[in-house]
Amino acid sequence: MSRYQYPETALIHGGISNDPRTGAVNVPIYQTSTYQQDGLGKMRGYEYSRTGNPTREALEKLIAELEGGYAGFAFGSGMAAITAVLSLLNSGDRVLISSNVYGGTFRVLDKVFNHFGITYTIADTADLGVFETQITPDTKAVIIESPANPLMTVTDIAAVSEITHQHGLLVIVDNTFMTPYLQKPLALGADIVVHSATKYLGGHSDVVAGLAVVSTAELAERLAFIQNSTGGVLGPFDSFLLIRGIKTLAVRMDRHVENAEKAAAFLAAHPAVKRVYYPGLPESQGYAVNKKQAKNGGVMISFELHENYDIRVFFERLELVMLAESLGGVESLVCHPATMTHASIPAEIRRQVGITDGLIRLSVGIENIADILADLEQAIAQAEVRHA
Ligand SMILES: *Cc1c(COP(=O)(O)O)cnc(C)c1O
Repeated sequence: MSRYQYPETALIHGGISNDPRTGAVNVPIYQTSTYQQDGLGKMRGYEYSRTGNPTREALEKLIAELEGGYAGFAFGSGMAAITAVLSLLNSGDRVLISSNVYGGTFRVLDKVFNHFGITYTIADTADLGVFETQITPDTKAVIIESPANPLMTVTDIAAVSEITHQHGLLVIVDNTFMTPYLQKPLALGADIVVHSATKYLGGHSDVVAGLAVVSTAELAERLAFIQNSTGGVLGPFDSFLLIRGIKTLAVRMDRHVENAEKAAAFLAAHPAVKRVYYPGLPESQGYAVNKKQAKNGGVMISFELHENYDIRVFFERLELVMLAESLGGVESLVCHPATMTHASIPAEIRRQVGITDGLIRLSVGIENIADILADLEQAIAQAEVRHA
């Protein structure tokens, strides 16, 4: 639980927000690998920076407070956080993953954890009836993203948590797309939240980082052991950058969402656009569920242009909006999931789950929305290869 009633305040003052030693308003960057001991066995709270570092600890306490969890852990990337969390499993265990799970999460299960006897099933977490039939005796965990990338598929986190807890499974939610400012999975029943903090939490496309928050002391003890044993920790400077980014999360997200809602409405009304995926549009899949569990539809939009538009030309003609992997920074970015973020998912599976070659993903930045829309408009116009 946060000590502050309002998230805007917790973002700035949560965790350890200053330096008790000097009164410095910001947590200093403790750029040290080790700590002097006052005598054998007499440590002042830290012994070695893989195990603990005051800057990283401030970040870990902050994210735990923001997600309403028992303890937080900071890693060198989102994938390092996910890998550490998956290391809670044993050989012989099975994981259910949302069909639109992040490509890297799929890949680490498909190509790394498979070597250790951990298997996965692509599950339909958006259809509860189907989902429950996919739970087998060896299933030990489920990984959900809501909305899931890139089709913005919404999963009812509370309902899935309830079903899975009846079967004794661990519920892991990747909350990267929403952040605790828009959605709090632990309050909805999840056991663990993971983040690619590279995205909205960092917010400025200048740091790669991952976070995990657990709901119980038992999970905290196990994940602390894994974090220290496997060692994929976040460095002090990057921890500082994340704390700095998180302070402005509320104002950034408010503007991001305001712009995203306008961009989604613009695309939905555009004659060149065949389909828009955005959980904030009333006609979208999961609109009601998303409204129940999140503050709004978030920032990420995917869309398809009609067949008489050449998406290669569209990507090349964009002037303001940049073609790049990643999302969540202050600048608007587009990507082509089939060849970029989701290329690690085999074409066959991509087709099955609906990631078409014509799909475009847009991370709406906080520039003036008129500039963003004008850029999309001119690039779409130039991409028309023949009249329909
Ligand atoms: C980017 C991303 C990840 C991976 O995080 P990295 O920081 O790139 O390792 C995991 N999940 C989601 C939803 C992401 O967008």
